[in-house]
Amino acid sequence: MSVTYNFCAGPAMLPTEVMEKAQKELLNWNGLGVSVMEVSHRSKEFIALTEQAEADLRQLMNIPSNYHVLFMHGGGRGQFSAVVNNFLGNDGRALYLVDGSWSSAAVEEARKLAGENCIDVVEIVNKDNELVTVELPDFNAINTDYRYVHYCPNETVDGIEIFDSIDCPWPVIADMSSNIMSQEIDVSRFGLIYAGAQKNIGPSGLSIVIVRDDMLQLPSLPQSSIMDYRLAVKHGSMYNTPPTFAWYLAAEVFAWLKQQGGVKQIAAQNEIKAEKLYQYIDSSEFYLTKVSAKYRSKMNVTFYLADESLNDRFLAEAKANNLVALKGHRSVGGMRASIYNAMPLSGVEALIQFMQQFEAQNS
Ligand code: PMP
Repeated sequence: MSVTYNFCAGPAMLPTEVMEKAQKELLNWNGLGVSVMEVSHRSKEFIALTEQAEADLRQLMNIPSNYHVLFMHGGGRGQFSAVVNNFLGNDGRALYLVDGSWSSAAVEEARKLAGENCIDVVEIVNKDNELVTVELPDFNAINTDYRYVHYCPNETVDGIEIFDSIDCPWPVIADMSSNIMSQEIDVSRFGLIYAGAQKNIGPSGLSIVIVRDDMLQLPSLPQSSIMDYRLAVKHGSMYNTPPTFAWYLAAEVFAWLKQQGGVKQIAAQNEIKAEKLYQYIDSSEFYLTKVSAKYRSKMNVTFYLADESLNDRFLAEAKANNLVALKGHRSVGGMRASIYNAMPLSGVEALIQFMQQFEAQNS
């Protein structure tokens, strides 16, 4: 069977080695004669798995000791509400920076829970020019005391990524659902980082939260216990039964990433993959991007065919060539190639080759 390259934005492809290992040990994990899905989350074997997963993640991301690592339910959106409920109390205000669909969805949820007046919003994308750019506000000119500033450094739908760090007087909360572990970052610059798992971590449903200890002193709202960070810390992310199979796969992905040489190494690989694809798109008049070079996502490459009437044919022929899930999100149209950590360079090369061929046949 020839290889299929899956460019889905999420749930996204997982490393083949991880999937093969999971398949091999599906019915008999750790010599226990049963599946990892069937053992108690409190068994010593499973606890050992969680300890290793946390240690690996800490090493991969160089997480300082004053940060907790939580494995929670509810994916990315679960965290949209968790940050509000955990940090705003009855009188807190927060600032949300909006650069695309997901940061905008986070605002909607925050306003629903905290009320319109407690959530200030700054649109940071500039779409006036031909190509989208990002403009961060002058934080020093803002006089409000915020509990936190929330932003999304990689907008999965729009293909916009912010590489500059956010320098402001308030704790920064980042939704890194689609770019966690894709590049080296300084965790100490953040009050909290969260990520839904289904791109660079594992299967959907799980989310990873990395939270600085002092954040847990902020007043919280009455809330569902399973999304309470303090309870999650107290119970080692096992206040209730956690998504154990997703946790197991996440642990395997962390181990795989360490084998690849860690985040530094995968970041170099990601750089090459994105560069090649954007370079080809830029060199062609048949394809175009709408994001200026500095803010182009290295994970979600959004692009358009100059002649959009060819979209369906492009997708059908890509599929026939085993290049799947290239359709852009319905809200923005066009194409999107999601090239997360698990996508090998050969996948990007196969895509470029197909795009060249399609261009030659249709220009
Ligand atoms: N934030 C970002 C940046 C995302 O890409 C997504 C999902 N694609 C979400 C949040 C929502 O995640 P979930 O579907 O797991 O709730």
